[in-house]
Amino acid sequence: MRPLAQCQALLAAVLASAAAVVSTSAPAQDRAGERAAMIETIKSHARSAPSAVEGQGIDPAVLETMAKVPRHLFVPEELRGAAYRDRPLPIGYGQTISQPFIVALMTDLINVGPGDVVLEVGTGSGYQAAVLSPRAGKVYSIEIIPELGKRAAARLAELRYGNVEVKVGDGYYGWPEHAPFDGIVVTAAASHIPPPLVEQLAKGGRMVVPVGAPFATQFLMLVEKRQDGSITTRQLLPVGFVPLRGGR
Ligand code: SAH
Repeated sequence: MRPLAQCQALLAAVLASAAAVVSTSAPAQDRAGERAAMIETIKSHARSAPSAVEGQGIDPAVLETMAKVPRHLFVPEELRGAAYRDRPLPIGYGQTISQPFIVALMTDLINVGPGDVVLEVGTGSGYQAAVLSPRAGKVYSIEIIPELGKRAAARLAELRYGNVEVKVGDGYYGWPEHAPFDGIVVTAAASHIPPPLVEQLAKGGRMVVPVGAPFATQFLMLVEKRQDGSITTRQLLPVGFVPLRGGR
């Protein structure tokens, strides 16, 4: 080989390995072992919270989805080593990505399927939206911090969660243009169940929302709208979410 050709071959090899390091095109294979361990932890956590988890535990289909979503790509690079632990992690701007068990529980509780339209309030990193994406027809997600919303939208597009739409705004008021929603997930704690969200819930739809004073005990609430339009609420378990902000 002539020196120039040799040099080109070396350069090509270096570029190929650099591409392999930064590539996110095959995330499912990446860290699959850590994800499998995370699923086992979620299952055992679910066994210790039977009053919150309905029936036989978390729906296996939800866990199957979570075994594919590359959670490490939704946390800051320096925290990737901790991405699959069953705990929340900081994502900047004083906000956190929820712990895997809570994401599994909330996804399980709204019980949506193909064709359903889901609203998430509090996009944060975009991880919960990514977990909802394959389980619904369309996911609308609202984030109040513009920088987080923009980053999450770009990340979700790059990872090809094509049925998720993110907007920056105050999610307390929901997204009336796309209502009614078959499922609503609120991932920040409100002082009360936001009436506009109850209004925008479809008949037969379910909403999960943490309710309580900021930094005091909050409870995850399940709100159901029956076919006749009546509302039932159930308090499930104590949780710790960042507060729902906004101008009301
Ligand atoms: N679901 C997120 C975790 C979100 S943390 C994830 O999977 O990563 C809660 C998020 O709710 C924060 O990003 C916070 O900025 C956002 N938030 C707080 N109040 C809000 C409001 N009124 N409307 C929309 N987003 C809000």
